[in-house]
Amino acid sequence: MIVCKVCVFLFWTWLGLSLLTPAAVAQPITAAVDPSIPAVVRYCIDPNWFPYESAIQGKHQGISADFVQLLQARTDLQLQWVKSKNWLHTIELLRNGSCDMTPMLNHTEERDEFLDFTDVWYRSPNVLISLRDEPFLQSLDHLDGRKVALTAGYRITSYVQQHYPAIDYLEVTDELAGIQAVIDEQVDVFIGSMLSVNNHIQANGLNEVKIAGWVGPEDLLRVGVRPSHQALIPVINQFIAQISEADRIAMHKNWNDITLIDNSNQELLRQVILGFSLILLVGIMYHLLIRKMNKKLLAQNAELQSLKAALTETNQELVFLTNHDLLTQIHNRHYFNQLLERLSSKKINSNSFCMVFFDLDHFKSINDRFGHQVGDRVLKQLTATIRPLLGDKHVFIRWGGEEFVILCQDTNELSARRLCLEIKQALDDLSIDPVGHITCSFGIASKQADESIMQCIERADRAMYQAKANGRNQIITAQKMGS
Ligand code: GH3
Ligand code: MG
Ligand code: MG
Repeated sequence: MIVCKVCVFLFWTWLGLSLLTPAAVAQPITAAVDPSIPAVVRYCIDPNWFPYESAIQGKHQGISADFVQLLQARTDLQLQWVKSKNWLHTIELLRNGSCDMTPMLNHTEERDEFLDFTDVWYRSPNVLISLRDEPFLQSLDHLDGRKVALTAGYRITSYVQQHYPAIDYLEVTDELAGIQAVIDEQVDVFIGSMLSVNNHIQANGLNEVKIAGWVGPEDLLRVGVRPSHQALIPVINQFIAQISEADRIAMHKNWNDITLIDNSNQELLRQVILGFSLILLVGIMYHLLIRKMNKKLLAQNAELQSLKAALTETNQELVFLTNHDLLTQIHNRHYFNQLLERLSSKKINSNSFCMVFFDLDHFKSINDRFGHQVGDRVLKQLTATIRPLLGDKHVFIRWGGEEFVILCQDTNELSARRLCLEIKQALDDLSIDPVGHITCSFGIASKQADESIMQCIERADRAMYQAKANGRNQIITAQKMGS
């Protein structure tokens, strides 16, 4: 965080100062009239000083590249770049005349020996680089006792050597090597140009270091020209005077897109994103798990529902089977016994409850003549014919074999007799193939106040036997008890 806060503070301070410079109006500048200016001017740069200047992918790039381009556009100078390996090599080329000028450097007394200088055209502060846990450092006055890395051949190096001889320093080939020396703890601090140092830190993700402070003097960057080409100086100065603030800002913006996101914020952002991603992942997994479990539960529920339905159906079947006769589908003796229990607790009015006992006549001979299966069919057709005549009020029971009981509730003797006559008539109307007509013998007993239902049935049974004895196919009403 400190890296960029300091960096942004320094940048805006410096830019503010730069903007105070009065704007100039561009005028066409002619140099060709001077015969001492050659047709082509060769120039060298520091190849490792981005964004000020550098050699990237075989091209001159950075702020000085824009400067050179603008210089050519606004004057009739022809500039040709001569490549160099590093800054020391550049100085060597300038000294030996392989280059005529260099576009961006500080003035020093030492350089006066082989270069003439134009006016300042670019200002930039120098900064101190330290490990992150170092306290804030300000100015060279507080560096005694600390080891400092300095770039060989740079103006700040000779400045420190000259004005701060007590500072113990290590000379490095370029600024990246200086920052690396801090990281490797070979030195305590490195002094470099703000923009290039910031670029190295950001481009290489060097989170271990920070810009620990601002250190003077600031870089006052000019064009250096070999004395043999000093005729260029007034031409270039004229050009510098006409560089507008818009030009300066454009040059600066082209090469200094300072990222405002600081490292610790990036780390925080990274952690927040990671945290959110984890929460999201856990949420999704939880959701998927719940969905899977829900699906499973729904399937199990559906299975349980169908099992329950099957069980209910089976239970209903079982209840039906328990209470009904399978062949004729009417109630059986078991049902009758249960009904008897229920009725025993109820008060039954005498003369309004009758029992009808009836038996199929000569059924044995039907079986004998037509077979048991036909006999079964006769029993089914007999009950199917009688059932609709009884409605819901009377209970129809297969007593056993070819014997049946009808329990007639709220029915007096007369009504019971009428019912038996209806049944008799229905049987007379029925013809069963291949048997033909069938008949039954009926016994009716009206329940007496002092007798049980079973005693009533017995009387009805006896009456039925009386009907058999009398010749069958008839209805006999039982005598009252004791008569
Ligand atoms: P009666 O007129 O005196 O009642 O003579 P019956 O022949 O009807 O009486 P009996 O008691 O002599 O014979 C009854 C026959 O009914 C004997 C038995 O085999 C037959 N039977 C009983 N239950 C069934 C059944 O479920 N199916 C068939 N096909 N026959 C049955
Ligand atoms: Mg019979
Ligand atoms: Mg019988």
